[in-house]
Parts: sequence; structure tokens; C-alpha cells
Amino acid sequence: MTDRCNLRCSYCMPAEGLDWLPSEQVLTDDEVVRLITIAVHRLGVREVRFTGGEPLVRRGLVDIVGRTTDLTPRPDTSITTNALGLERMAGALATAGLDRVNVSMDTVRQDSFHEITRRDRLHDVVAGLEAAAAAGLGPVKINAVLLRGVNDDQAPELLRWCLDRGYHLRFIEQMLLDAQHVWSRDKMVTADEILASLETQFQLEPAEEPRGSAPAELFAVNGGPATVGVIASVTRPFCGDCDRVRLTADGQIRNCLFAREESDLRAALRGGAGDDEIADRWRAAMWGKRPGHGIDDVSFLQPTRPMSAIGG
Ligand code: SAM
Repeated sequence: MTDRCNLRCSYCMPAEGLDWLPSEQVLTDDEVVRLITIAVHRLGVREVRFTGGEPLVRRGLVDIVGRTTDLTPRPDTSITTNALGLERMAGALATAGLDRVNVSMDTVRQDSFHEITRRDRLHDVVAGLEAAAAAGLGPVKINAVLLRGVNDDQAPELLRWCLDRGYHLRFIEQMLLDAQHVWSRDKMVTADEILASLETQFQLEPAEEPRGSAPAELFAVNGGPATVGVIASVTRPFCGDCDRVRLTADGQIRNCLFAREESDLRAALRGGAGDDEIADRWRAAMWGKRPGHGIDDVSFLQPTRPMSAIGG
């Protein structure tokens, strides 16, 4: 939806923010809806997730969601958000037909939240979560990244907080997609460490439901039915099952989160290409998908586009 964000998570972007995309390069609402329509009508896309940057800061979001859920077949829709402003917008998003929200929240401690995001807004996130659940945008999922020496001792506390409120928690391994290029494999908290930390307080067993193409490996907590997930793109990659495609705010197709190449659909759109031609370009972009993201390879180079401009 946008590359702009109102938080400054230390593992994502620098305190001063980034050079945002010039507005003329960002797809208009009509262009976004046209591409979603092509994806749903011609390419078999069944699920659309709105992300960013922070999707809630895009003015046309509710309208785009509404036009997406009007499509036939109606795709499943969700947003990935930091929840700032969600308290105000949850009702309108639900009315527009949004199915679910994924909220990013790495801690339930105010001081750690400030240290990680460089903003004192934990109370807004909590209010946003409550509003989303009340509006029926569930199951509400929470995504958390653990950072060594900052919140890596807080996994059990975060899980207990989520279980008490009925939120579904998933931990994401930190990936080398930060704009500051400070990621290092030695410093990242691995899935094994996250699970070991949780097991100091909870009993975990691999969940029975089939994982399919879902990025999260799920574990039943204390015999279930509650679960906790781990998205281990680095240490337990799931490339063979990945069926995602990412469309950036400036109209580029990325066939992998870690891809260095992109396919320019905005140029096609603005150059007058018809829906058939755009669908063909999109298919060709996906057929070029590599068998794996290769981040373990010594020759791997970090993509130039940071996570905040890809969407996660
Ligand atoms: N602003 C929205 C949000 O906070 O959910 C959507 C965009 S944000 C880039 C999407 C997700 O990416 C968030 O859960 C965030 O924690 C995660 N993320 C950002 N940088 C990351 C990194 N280097 N490694 C792993 N996850 C990262």
C-alpha cells in the first residue's frame, strides 16, 4: 500500500526514516484495484493481504479493501499492520469486508516497545487489537520478532499475554532485509532458541493441522487447542511450499521476499497494456521464481529494497 511507516523499528529502518517513494511512482487506488482484479480473475489468486510500510496510513485503504471484497470470486482479505490507528479504523475495515488482521507487536512491555520502535505507542497497539477483535476481524494474529539482548527473554510472557486474550501469536526470525544492513546471523534469535525459551513454561507439540503453503510452523500449546507459530525463513526455509507473490506500492512484482529482480507492472499499466498482456507479464515473473531464496549461500546479496518497501 505504501513504503511509509509511523514506527521506526530498529531492525527495519533507521531513526530518521528512509527516502520515501515519490508519490507519482506510487500506484493510484484504481491501478491497485485493477492489478488485484487481474490477479483474482486471471491468475487464480485467492488471498489478498494489504501491507506496507504501514497500510493504515494509506488514505484509500478502506475503499481498496471494499473494491477487492466485491470481486467474484471474493478473495480472502487481511492486513498486516502495526495497529496504530486501528482502534479508529477497525469498524470501517470490517464493513468494507476485510476478513482478518495480523498485528506486529514484539513486546508487551512499554520500555521494550519504546526501545524497539522508537515510539511510545504500546497503548495504541493494544487498543487497536481490542477494536479489531470487537469488529470481528479475527482470528487476530500477532507477529513478533525477537532481538538478542532486547526482548529475547520475553517469548513466554508474550505468549501468555496472547493466550489470555485469544490472540494467535507467531514469532518471525529476523531476516536480512533491514535498511541499515546491520543484520547478522550470529545475532539473530533462531527458531530453536525461541521454542526452547517457550518450553521453559509451556508444553509444545507439533500441531496436527496440515501446514500447506503457510509460512508458520504451528505448535499446540499445553495440549491445545491454542497454538503458537514460528516463521523460520532463515533456519527452516519453506521455499518449496511458498505460493506468494508480492506487489510493491510502486507496481513491481517480486516473486520472492529475497529476490533481487523485479518485474515492472506499473510501466505496463501506464503504457496502455491490456489485462491479457499484464497477466502474461505477471505469469512470466512467477515462472522465473528460483527453487530457494539462497540466503544461506555465500554468494547471496541482500536485495536493495528494504522490508518496509516490500511488506513482509
Ligand atoms: N507496518 C506493518 C506492520 O508493522 O506489520 C506492515 C509492514 S512490516 C515491514 C511487516 C512485518 O515485517 C512486521 O511484522 C515486522 O516486524 C516485520 N519485519 C520488518 N523487518 C524485519 C526483519 N528484518 N526481519 C523479520 N521481520 C521483519
